[in-house]
Amino acid sequence: MDTSKRRFLKGCGGAIAGVSVYSMTRQPLARDAAEESEVKYAMLHDENLCIGCNACEDACREVNQVPIGVSRVDIVRTGPFGEYPEQSYRFSRHSCQHCEAAPCVKVCPTGAAYIDKETGIVAVNEDRCVGCQYCIAACPYQIRFINPVTKVADKCDFCQQSQLTRGLQPACVLACPTEALVFGNLKDPNSALVKTLKSKPTYRQKVDLGTRPKLFHVRTVDGEIVL
Ligand code: SF4
Ligand code: SF4
Ligand code: SF4
Repeated sequence: MDTSKRRFLKGCGGAIAGVSVYSMTRQPLARDAAEESEVKYAMLHDENLCIGCNACEDACREVNQVPIGVSRVDIVRTGPFGEYPEQSYRFSRHSCQHCEAAPCVKVCPTGAAYIDKETGIVAVNEDRCVGCQYCIAACPYQIRFINPVTKVADKCDFCQQSQLTRGLQPACVLACPTEALVFGNLKDPNSALVKTLKSKPTYRQKVDLGTRPKLFHVRTVDGEIVL
């Protein structure tokens, strides 16, 4: 067992279940992101281009060996909107927001949840994770889960290990047939991501919480307005 993991378990003993996650999340959210780095990765999901094919989900599962029953990314369908045959649906992406002020990182007692200073990616160090689930409770977006195979916290890492280290785009982005997903460096004005952000109005979820999420959405034209 990793020494930090052993040290944590020894120190906490049976008292761990009684600690309030809520009180830990009340701490000020630090700006832990990669402010010094030239790279700050983010993603955009264009709901108008998304056709709900789920190819992104399948690619993620295969590339990152995500077991059946859990997932790092979900495309949530709402609707139908309108009258037959003019019906339409809304597809929205549900996955880690890679928050710059990440509650999951703040509450993690072992440092297993951390922000990579080079890329701004919110990652999981499996060797340090003790499975306490504080991060799962603290995430306002409810996207973390315990991997039933590895028994540690899991979530989207922008394919940092499986794709980015090989110079490849995230698996979901490569699999998308309509280019609804755009991944790139927020600090690069010439990146496709920044150009898209400048050309289309976007929104982010739960920004009022101060988490500074880096998953952007282009709102669907259909679906949101119900008279
Ligand atoms: S979405 Fe949840 S898991 Fe992802 S960085 Fe934010 S708080 Fe952490
Ligand atoms: S970036 Fe990688 S880990 Fe994240 S949802 Fe896409 S395929 Fe899955
Ligand atoms: S692969 Fe692209 S079009 Fe298909 S569900 Fe995912 S984001 Fe939408």
